[in-house]
Amino acid sequence: MLNPKYFDANATTPLHPAAREAWLSAPWHNASGLYADGAAARELLEDCRGRLADILVCEPEEVVFVSGATEANNAVLHHFEGKLVAVSALEHPSVREAAPDALTLAVTADGVADLDALRDMLEQEKPALVSLMAANNETGALQPWREALALCCGADAAFHCDAAQWMGKMHAALIQECDFITGSAHKFGGPKGVGFLKVSAAHGPLRWMRGGPQEGRQRGGTENVPGIAAMLAALEVHEEQLATAPYSSGPRDAFENAVARAMPDVQFIATGTPRLWNTSLFIVPPPTNVKWLARLSRAGFQLSTGSACSRGGGASEVLAAMGLPVDALTRVLRVSSLWETTEDDWLALAETIRVTAEMTKAE
Ligand code: PMP
Repeated sequence: MLNPKYFDANATTPLHPAAREAWLSAPWHNASGLYADGAAARELLEDCRGRLADILVCEPEEVVFVSGATEANNAVLHHFEGKLVAVSALEHPSVREAAPDALTLAVTADGVADLDALRDMLEQEKPALVSLMAANNETGALQPWREALALCCGADAAFHCDAAQWMGKMHAALIQECDFITGSAHKFGGPKGVGFLKVSAAHGPLRWMRGGPQEGRQRGGTENVPGIAAMLAALEVHEEQLATAPYSSGPRDAFENAVARAMPDVQFIATGTPRLWNTSLFIVPPPTNVKWLARLSRAGFQLSTGSACSRGGGASEVLAAMGLPVDALTRVLRVSSLWETTEDDWLALAETIRVTAEMTKAE
């Protein structure tokens, strides 16, 4: 039974039943084993590689299975060590900290990468690689990665897209054009500890994990075949749905309207730009967001401050880059729903937030 009060899907998601089924039915044997069960594991592994290549519209050889988005991002940025790279101020720490000397691509107040700044940067500084995520984990703001990719193609710069928050929520169409694509299974109903990196033939191979011939010698280590099978099963469920209709932002919008009506002083972030349908980020009145989380948690609701991945667990560097005042940074709440979350679930959260605010005022 899914918990209807779980609103931290951008942090992680429960295993989808199709993923669980795929995990349990996959062979546990080593895909390098020279016996029938080993061959079956190898066959499933390569089948999964082909299916992911179909989704990403690339060659199977361009798909590398990894442990998650953190590893994939590190692999790409380390590959460009010694070269000039540019990363947006919105990037996850696994990009920013892997490239401490990178140029920083500015963002607008709505949390969207500034394309004019990118154009200037490509012309003047000529970075060899630009890294821009597809959708931001904190605000949900969709990034102009297609436009950034086109600019990079025109300037002969490689383009890396961290699509950890995009895959499974938005259709993968056109993402195949990116030179490097990062994905993480546990963000879309797959298991934790498995993900993928697309490395385009023009830029590969990368060799970041030595010690074995696996994954085209790019990443040594016994392949996590059940995890990979489960990841593909979950991704295919969402891709199938997304091929016919996008997921709806209606329930999230109803939540924001309800909160805004009851608490006009709440400030919603990044509402001036297209966002992930499941994400809402907003500034609440005092006390701090940590105290808010404790109060909402007592009522059973699970949400976050939106910056669990920030360096040192402190205030969000992404929101600071967007120009949010320092005092607001400690009052930010992030709500991110699952695919199954209903409008009633969202409205129950809105009502609990209203009641919590009333009780706080009365204290
Ligand atoms: N990139 C983004 C955009 C993310 O949201 C996350 C998870 N918070 C990561 C990378 C890291 O993912 P993983 O847990 O798979 O290492």
